[in-house]
Amino acid sequence: MTVYVANAPGEDYNSEHPSGYDSWIDYWNKKRYPGTNKKASRCRNCGTEAKDLDDGEIEGGHVEYCEKISNGKWYYNKAKGIYITPLCSECNNPNNTAVFTVDDSDLIKIP
Ligand SMILES: [Zn+2]
Repeated sequence: MTVYVANAPGEDYNSEHPSGYDSWIDYWNKKRYPGTNKKASRCRNCGTEAKDLDDGEIEGGHVEYCEKISNGKWYYNKAKGIYITPLCSECNNPNNTAVFTVDDSDLIKIP
């Protein structure tokens, strides 16, 4: 199912990734594709393919569910928690507040 998300604002969500993982994107790769060596292939915001980027430029971005409210503004639904999704380093920027769509199967909740 397609859902709306945006970079999680405010708090320091770039905190330490869980032990046993090399990074947040390693956490996403292993949770999304368990038992395989499959890795995120593209930025879920702008669609840039990993093969067109340098190593490490697909990052585990922290996002929140967004919902449109009656005045046309976006509401960040913090109650649903924080999720990791693959973003290029350009899109994985806290100053980038654009709402974008992802398939909810590409959202991995942080512990
Ligand atoms: Zn991107």
